[in-house]
Formats: sequence, C-alpha cells, structure tokens
Amino acid sequence: MILLDGKIAAEAMKKDIAREVARWTCEWGRRPHLAAILVGDNPASQTYVRNKENDCRQVGMDSSLYRLSSTISQEGLIECVRTINEDPDIDGLIVQLPLPDHLDEQEIIGAIDPSKDVDGFHPVNVGCMVLGLPSFVSATPAGIVDLLQYYNIPTQGKECVIIGRSNIVGKPLANLLSRKGQGGDCTVTLCHSRTIDLPKICRRANIIVAALGQPGFLKANMVKEGAVVIDVGISRVEDKTTKSGFRLAGDVDFVQVAPRCSHITPVPGGVGPMTRLSLLKNTLQAAIERKLNVKRIRL
Ligand code: NAD
Repeated sequence: MILLDGKIAAEAMKKDIAREVARWTCEWGRRPHLAAILVGDNPASQTYVRNKENDCRQVGMDSSLYRLSSTISQEGLIECVRTINEDPDIDGLIVQLPLPDHLDEQEIIGAIDPSKDVDGFHPVNVGCMVLGLPSFVSATPAGIVDLLQYYNIPTQGKECVIIGRSNIVGKPLANLLSRKGQGGDCTVTLCHSRTIDLPKICRRANIIVAALGQPGFLKANMVKEGAVVIDVGISRVEDKTTKSGFRLAGDVDFVQVAPRCSHITPVPGGVGPMTRLSLLKNTLQAAIERKLNVKRIRL
C-alpha cells in the first residue's frame, strides 16, 4: 500500500509556483495578490484562512484578510465583495465558507467577479468547467486530480465511485474525472445519501473518493482489493487523549481499509494540502490573466 502524501506533493508543486511567481513579479513589478473575506469567528475558518495566508507568503504572493463581524448584513458583505472586485491590485478573492445562517451564500458567491473567483464557485466558472472551457476549478477537486497525477495513477477507463454530491467536491470532481483527456476519462458513479446498496457500487471501483463528512464511513467490505482510496472528509471528533480534546478524522476507516488498497490518502495530510495548493495555482492564473487582459465570459 502506498500512502498518497499530499504534503509532499503540494510542497513539490509549490516550488514550481514560487518560481513562476518570482518570474512574473520581476516582470510586472508587483506580486499576485489573494484577498480573503472572513465573516465571524468560527475557529476552523480562522485556521483555514491563516493557513492560506501562510501559503501565499511561502510562494511570494501577497494576501489581505477582510475580517467582518458575524452580524454583517447581506448588503454589507456584498459591498465588501464589490470593493475587492474593483480593486486593481487584487487578483483573487475567496469568501471563507460557511457563512452565518442569515447570509445567502449563493448570492454572495454570485457577487464575486468570475475573473477573481479563485475558489471556482461562481456559476460562470462552474458552467465553463462543465463545458470544458477555461475556468477556475474548485480547489479540492482540482487538488485530487493533481494528486492522482503526481503519483502517476492512471484514470483512463477506470471505474471511479464518488460518495457525496456537494457543489464544492462531489459534483465538480465527477465532471473533472469523466472529462476527456489526461487526468480524466474515468467512468464515474456519483453516489449520495439516497443511493441504494452503496457497498456493492463501491466494490466495483478502481478509485473511490469519500466526501460525505461522516468519520470512518468507508469500511473494508466496501473496497475492492487494490483500489485507490481518496479521503476528502475532515471532521473534528472528540479525543480526550489530545491536548485540544479533539482530533481530525476522515471519512475512511483507515486502519481497516488501508491494507486492501494500492494507494490511500491520510487525514490530515492528504487532500487538504492539495486543496490549498490549488488555490495558489488559481491565484497565479488569475494574476496572469489579469495582466494579459484575458477576457472570460461574464454575466
Ligand atoms: P456536504 O455536507 O455539502 O455534502 C455531503 C454529501 O454526502 C451530500 O451530497 C450527501 O448526499 C452525501 N452523503 C451524506 N451521507 C451519506 C451517506 N450515508 N451515504 C452516501 N452519501 C451520503 O459535504 P462537503 O462540503 O462536500 O464536505 C464533505 C467532507 O469533506 C466534509 O468532512 C468536509 O469537511 C470535507 N472537505 C474537505 C476538504 C479538504 O480540503 N480536505 C474540502 C472540502 C470539504
């Protein structure tokens, strides 16, 4: 069994990004710039945003954080998004999710300029991705495809089962893995909470992606011998043996499943670092396109 180490893969790819950032910075006289909006004080969101700022620093990009109160109104948040949309010195913008319940996430995402939408959540980017047109692809699915490629795992003609049909992971990943060309050409089955006989479907798979947010859900009896298993899940579970009182758990029962696999991702240290890498790639792409004045489809 080979561990698909997202930290190693991401660090290697970050070096390429850092080189490219240095070259472009020299040419333009300014660094690519990622802005993040953080609403409220959700501890997990704060950690994610801090990590993204550190990543930017590591590859030589600028970052700015817009901290907004958890009581901000929909209009107030949209105003902040518009201000960043219009700032010529900012290339990429992310709004850290989830947002407090009183805010309409889809409307906020729709307010982001698609050419700065480095999370790839805007309907224009999602639509372009589905049509195979140039787009920002959402970070986790793009990171998973990069991880498979980094470890030279063939996808062409392989049966891939994805568990979870969210807009940010399952749905875009199903599109990426089934599209024509390198890193795609899989036969994809997208499963969800209403899927009947999930274990039987999973046992067909050469590649299983678990993205449902239920710790330890994927068991050994759902995995064919020699399958590749990608664990997207990150849940905080109580653990009195740790200082913090919790630990991060994936959607795969790693101890049971790992011996059956040809390859498997750990949690943490698998998909997470690749997600962060994709955001850097998208920000660099956004900066280059801004400089070259590449026009994307706008609504
Ligand atoms: P979500 O909550 O939006 O969607 C969960 C999906 O799982 C739904 O489509 C649902 O139909 C499906 N599901 C739920 N129970 C099921 C069951 N018993 N059988 C089959 N399908 C079932 O999830 P999300 O936002 O895609 O996140 C999923 C997990 O991935 C979470 O743990 C999240 O924290 C994690 N995540 C990790 C990263 C990363 O970078 N590693 C990125 C995004 C999300």
